[in-house]
Amino acid sequence: MKRLEDFRRVPLGVFPTPIQRLDNISRLLGTNVYVKRDDMTGLGLGGNKTRKLEFLLADAIDKGAELVFTTGGAQSNHAMLTAAAAGRLGLKAVLVLKKRGVTDIAGNLFLEKLMGTDVRFVDTDDYQDIYDEMDRIAAELGLKAYKIPMGGSNALGTLGYVSCAEEISRQGIHFDHLICAEGSGGTMAGLALGAKFFLPGTRVHGMMVDASDFTPVTLSLMKEAAALLEADIEISEKDFDLRRVWGEGYAIPSKEGNAAVEMMAANEGIFLDPVYTGKAFSGLIAMAEEGAFKPDDKVLFLHSGGAGGLFAVH
Ligand SMILES: *Cc1c(COP(=O)(O)O)cnc(C)c1O
Repeated sequence: MKRLEDFRRVPLGVFPTPIQRLDNISRLLGTNVYVKRDDMTGLGLGGNKTRKLEFLLADAIDKGAELVFTTGGAQSNHAMLTAAAAGRLGLKAVLVLKKRGVTDIAGNLFLEKLMGTDVRFVDTDDYQDIYDEMDRIAAELGLKAYKIPMGGSNALGTLGYVSCAEEISRQGIHFDHLICAEGSGGTMAGLALGAKFFLPGTRVHGMMVDASDFTPVTLSLMKEAAALLEADIEISEKDFDLRRVWGEGYAIPSKEGNAAVEMMAANEGIFLDPVYTGKAFSGLIAMAEEGAFKPDDKVLFLHSGGAGGLFAVH
């Protein structure tokens, strides 16, 4: 099996991110709740995509790319962080975003304006239209392009969260449960695969913030990332749990999600976001209410960021 160190990374973030016990929330929920502060990854306003981009942009540079494309919704945190990282590395970034959600110059689009990012919108629900538009732009600019998929969720990006699982294992606390938001799948797949290597006895739960079937997505990302690592390991749907927290749909704030954002803000001075982490934390609260955690369990919540969208999506 290969080691994570065998894959080139460009340093973009500040690692390890802290793990903190949430004393007030632990008291309220009757278990031991900790947070992994990936909202403090050190690029832009923080967030999970930095770990993926360290692998993806190293690959882009190795392949001689001059131009980096990515996509997502109008308020994509991933797209904003890709532009921030590309700027630091001297690569041109073009964000080809779906004209869906909040398209005003607010939130992540405001941050992109500050960075002078080239943002284009395509009025479509079909990612094929977006990738076609990227090919057109690359030909027009005459630059060698590297396409990063939505959310940075391919096998290489997934290694960012395999690496996060290794980082957690070195931080000295054994967790019974590890809980994260699942949007495009790479974060959860990386943690679930990484847990098999580095976090024995830790159950990984993905909180689905988008109304799609994540079991096949998670399994294929886990398998593809394991293949990159040349790991001879059995992967099945028993390796993770999924829970629906999307409410009325992706990027539509929910009552439970907003209550979780407020609970975290009021009790711990930590800001979640309504699209990903608030909904994910509402799933953790629901599990606590259902008695899924014992009083002496240790539950780790991955704070995957999202601050950029907080000021645009309410
Ligand atoms: C993208 C994102 C997620 C989801 O991660 P995936 O790897 O896409 O599943 C969670 N939280 C925030 C803040 C994000 O931007």
